[in-house]
Amino acid sequence: MICVERPTYVEIDLNALRHNFALAAERAGGAGRILAVVKADAYGHGATQVARALRRQGVHWFGTALLEEARELREAGLNDPILVLGGVFPGQEESFAALNLTPCIFDLEAARRLNAAGGASGRSISCHLKIDTGMGRVGFLPEDLPEVLKQLRELEHLHFKGVLSHLALADDPSSSHNEEQMARFHAVLDTLHEYDLHPRHVHIDNSAALYSDLMPECTLVRPGVTLYGGYPSGHFAHLDLQPVMHWRTVVAAIKTLPAGRGVSYGHRFVTERPTRIATLPVGYADGYNRRLTGCGEVLIGGRRAPVVGTVCMDWTMVDVTDLPEVGVGALVTLLGCDGDDCIRAEEWAERIGTINYEVFCQVSKRVPRVYK
Ligand code: PLP
Repeated sequence: MICVERPTYVEIDLNALRHNFALAAERAGGAGRILAVVKADAYGHGATQVARALRRQGVHWFGTALLEEARELREAGLNDPILVLGGVFPGQEESFAALNLTPCIFDLEAARRLNAAGGASGRSISCHLKIDTGMGRVGFLPEDLPEVLKQLRELEHLHFKGVLSHLALADDPSSSHNEEQMARFHAVLDTLHEYDLHPRHVHIDNSAALYSDLMPECTLVRPGVTLYGGYPSGHFAHLDLQPVMHWRTVVAAIKTLPAGRGVSYGHRFVTERPTRIATLPVGYADGYNRRLTGCGEVLIGGRRAPVVGTVCMDWTMVDVTDLPEVGVGALVTLLGCDGDDCIRAEEWAERIGTINYEVFCQVSKRVPRVYK
């Protein structure tokens, strides 16, 4: 029995997390090769609890997007290496040194500022060099690398312990762009060796690349979404990944409306027959996306009920006419599994025209996370 004050909560199934992790570790050739991506509060699953659980499974590298996310892990007592993928913004340098964080470096100014902070604090700062092999986002371009390396060599308090890149089309394993990015990354490694640089950590794989066996010679892989039971795309639907997030609520009120009555703002749904409407205490302020209006479904007692009328900020209505046994207090699953049925993030994403990643991240802080 899970006891939380608010009857709308997200249940995080740590056994499912461990299951998904074991699959990734097997694929990667050992838990020690995993850098678990726990940015964005572990894709909405709760970074601290997820990191603690994965640590017990043998993970000793974590990836965040932000300094603040990394700080939260440190404050929770996690002392393992943390790679901050989002780099270092002006004013953050001392925190990187003090918290012993490893930033990704993709611009020379940031490198110089960090070097100065390292010198001032009397400790050298480890960092990983980010290369743009074809993502077009952040990273030094391979053609600029010789000049970049010359300048970085001057920075005595920065230690380049790793080199990484990120794939733009890994979710489509048949794309030739993956091979092109790999080839550029190999060339980058050759250039580094020419400069007598042999970074200990070399990594490019996200979840999709890991499960496509794209670059097995890397020392680390960086899975995110698959740890949480999400498929990087339909190409990976054969993988045995278990949903970790199960979003529950209860029926708060129930009434039968006669035919011809409108439901919710704008009366986008009008009853055609006497209709039992169950009202759920959850809405778009919780991340229950308003675009689920008229197309969402929930599970009650393992059976589906359609969302009717506009999703409100704090309330959502479902039609339970065909589920006469449902009453006030009945447990409702918005996302995840109930009985033999599951509403996976992929299904939800397809209904509202987004990706499962965004579905996970949308669940707002207002919804308590409960770990089991
Ligand atoms: N590496 C980087 C640089 C990322 O930005 C991300 C996520 O966006 C990941 C790894 C993890 O990707 P995925 O969740 O697809 O495994």
